[in-house]
Amino acid sequence: MTDPTTPPSTSLPPCPTCGRPAVAAFRPFCSKRCADVDLGRWFSEQYRVPVRDEDTQIFEENDPRRVDPDDEVG
Ligand SMILES: [Zn+2]
Repeated sequence: MTDPTTPPSTSLPPCPTCGRPAVAAFRPFCSKRCADVDLGRWFSEQYRVPVRDEDTQIFEENDPRRVDPDDEVG
């Protein structure tokens, strides 16, 4: 049984940080370092989570502190 397409000895997906074969102990990464790199990206907000416009609009419309300066002029 010889299959040249069979990966060396791992069925884990490649490391998302560097693309090397992942290690079970650090999966989905290949090493602690790559895991830290990915975590650092999150902290530096390179992975921006999209904000829902719905929530923002509702919050603005219900904001009691919202004052229209033109109202006092008259
Ligand atoms: Zn890696």
